[in-house]
Amino acid sequence: MFNYRLIRRVLLILLLLVFGVVKSYGYEIFYPGEKKSVTTYDYGLFIGKARNSESITINNVKIPTASNGAFAHSVKLEDGENRIFIRSGYSTKVYNVFKKTEVPKIQSEIKEFDKRTVLVKNDTTPLRKAPEDVGFNIVSYLFKGTRIVINGADDEYYRVFLAKDKTAWILKSDVEECADGSIASFINMNSQKYKNANVQTISFTKNLPYTVEDGEKEILFRIYNPELSDTSVYTLNILKPKRYYYNVTLQDGAYTFKVSEVPKTYEGCTIVVDAGHGGSQNGAMGCLGDAEKDINLKIALELQQLLKQKGANVVMTRECDGMITLKDRIKIAKVNEADIYLSIHMNSIGNVAFSHSKHRGTGIYYFNRNSKELSEILLKSITKSAGTKKNGIKTASFAVIRPASYVGVLIETAYMINPSDTLLYTQENFARNVAEGIINGLDEFIEK
Ligand SMILES: [Zn+2]
Repeated sequence: MFNYRLIRRVLLILLLLVFGVVKSYGYEIFYPGEKKSVTTYDYGLFIGKARNSESITINNVKIPTASNGAFAHSVKLEDGENRIFIRSGYSTKVYNVFKKTEVPKIQSEIKEFDKRTVLVKNDTTPLRKAPEDVGFNIVSYLFKGTRIVINGADDEYYRVFLAKDKTAWILKSDVEECADGSIASFINMNSQKYKNANVQTISFTKNLPYTVEDGEKEILFRIYNPELSDTSVYTLNILKPKRYYYNVTLQDGAYTFKVSEVPKTYEGCTIVVDAGHGGSQNGAMGCLGDAEKDINLKIALELQQLLKQKGANVVMTRECDGMITLKDRIKIAKVNEADIYLSIHMNSIGNVAFSHSKHRGTGIYYFNRNSKELSEILLKSITKSAGTKKNGIKTASFAVIRPASYVGVLIETAYMINPSDTLLYTQENFARNVAEGIINGLDEFIEK
């Protein structure tokens, strides 16, 4: 005789299993992409999309989801193995994150040696305040063939002697030995005023190092001749207009320092619109599994249209889903003599704890002092037009906004990993609204 109770039990278990399999598609995790990973970060971020009615827990913490299912949560990592359980209904996904402890860098000692002259190998070589690769310690970008005096070393860097009490640092690999022992001498100086620019030139018989300081009312360019004497410093002060940028060129020992004013009309103003990432570089990934590069391009194309209508000279770094290096983006701006550079991005977070209120909305980044005002104006105008929260303006050392030869800002329009922001930026008219916000800000910046 059949054991009906057993059969019923087996059927029930089978039913539960089938139900469980179906339920396991109730949510997707888009980041991290791998179930096993190694990191040195303090936090691990998990983003994804749940079916509307699903409730998600990560290590037994209930995670809030937006009405489109988007969720984000970061888990504090302990040293070594971390097991993270993501549960929804009958489905559990397990992630293994191994946290490696970072070995602190041992402070090396500066090795002193007698002064000797070396040559800079390439253009755009950073001269730094300290022997470390941090954007904010760059004092100037030296040109190929510049003679510099070194008298100390720290790990990968040489200490550069500029003048009495004035030193800087340069990568050892950026210089080569110099056979020419003769010392540079001053030739002449000249200053000229144009409609939109103040230009000063100073000539020496050899290429000497320089530094720039963007002061309160003027820009100070200093040229050093340490081989002649430790007080041989030439200072050129150039008054700056309210909205400005500057260029430095060096040709056969002759420096040209040019401080320009941003045009006061769209006509005659060259604006570079830079859609971040592209091609194989997706940029940030959103809770919905979408790629940053696509949203950036959408906004950039809307902006291109509006700027053309205004009569500006618009230059795009990309108009389709293609790969372009940061170097090439900057080159495009320089070749076209950009007045303004607008880099369009969407935000994400790195190794910090995700916060729904903090990591939300529009943030504007700038590097040079000349770009702070535009950042403030754009923060107001974009948030007003696009309905995003004000995340603030910040300084950041991003390659495309480091040059001082244009007013450059990087716009982080909204957070792709913030569930509330995903509701905003997936709306049909979002790109248009952001572009209009940027135009409103530019109207104020250019034409005021
Ligand atoms: Zn980006």
